[in-house]
Amino acid sequence: MPFRDVVGHVRLIDLLSRSVAGSTLPPSLLFAGPAGVGKHLAALAVAQALNCLDVKQLAGSGFKVPGSGVDACGVCPACTRIARGVHPDVLFVSPGDSGAIKIDQVRDIVDRAQYRPFEGRRRVVIIDDADALAPPAQNALLKTLEEPPPSSVFILVTSRPDVLLPTVLSRCPQLRFRPLSAADIATALMARGHNETDARAVAATADGSLGHALQESAGELVESRDLAQRVLEQAGAQPDPARRIEQAPQLVTKPPSGVSERDQLATHLRAMAVLLRDVEVLATGADERTLANADVRPVLERLTETYRGERGTRAFAAVDRALFALQRNAGVKLVADWLVLQL
Ligand SMILES: [Zn+2]
Repeated sequence: MPFRDVVGHVRLIDLLSRSVAGSTLPPSLLFAGPAGVGKHLAALAVAQALNCLDVKQLAGSGFKVPGSGVDACGVCPACTRIARGVHPDVLFVSPGDSGAIKIDQVRDIVDRAQYRPFEGRRRVVIIDDADALAPPAQNALLKTLEEPPPSSVFILVTSRPDVLLPTVLSRCPQLRFRPLSAADIATALMARGHNETDARAVAATADGSLGHALQESAGELVESRDLAQRVLEQAGAQPDPARRIEQAPQLVTKPPSGVSERDQLATHLRAMAVLLRDVEVLATGADERTLANADVRPVLERLTETYRGERGTRAFAAVDRALFALQRNAGVKLVADWLVLQL
């Protein structure tokens, strides 16, 4: 995964690539941003660019200053071993079965980072889900982040930087990864063999996360959007709250195997949020190129009749709160009932 293959984030990738080229990359970095937008892949690209045996100039559309950044070749032995996770100088830390990153894992990595790289030029330590570092584990890491061994780079990857200790945050310059545009996700899906219609429909529902789009099969995401649309339309047409709540059970669908009811409802709700965001675009006459669901324009127009203005804003806020409540382990059926009453 060289820099040129990371989807979106052109400005950040440009910056990272030039920092590698100019040897100005900070020894510890925090990649923050929503799940599934490419933070881990960008960290891998940094590791490859630092250790590639046949470094190239960074090339690709959107990169501002041609010739000022470097990129990995992606095919030399160092690049392929990094991509497979078996390069001796590129180390990964992630939560174990307990869901936490243990202090022993951190001590081990800190010890190993003291030695010179075995094969590569720079040792790169990638800590995924860094928010899973318990405070003692963060403290164990702190001294290394303060005075990193000269040939090591630490990259902390997280969607929840707010839960890290301020002492850790202050030592790691933070790169904010934004949600991807629907257009970027659609392009990436087409590059992976999806046809354009499916790719656009899935991209619309993935809420800026290529990870979501890839994880969930295209069919399921499109179903989520259909369902979200139906609930919005039916709830919108029913003024009596007691009757409106009858729409709630259809939001709690039987999930495919390996997916929890909670994650399934979250997927439906994200689809709903993206539809409501599009309604806002149409209702306010904003730039229609930003529509995520442009492929179902007549649906959006119908929804805009009901959800323009204050009602739409309220509904969007309610979906947002419902997603937050799901993250905080609120009951799935309770969340669905509550939400439908707010629409
Ligand atoms: Zn290479």
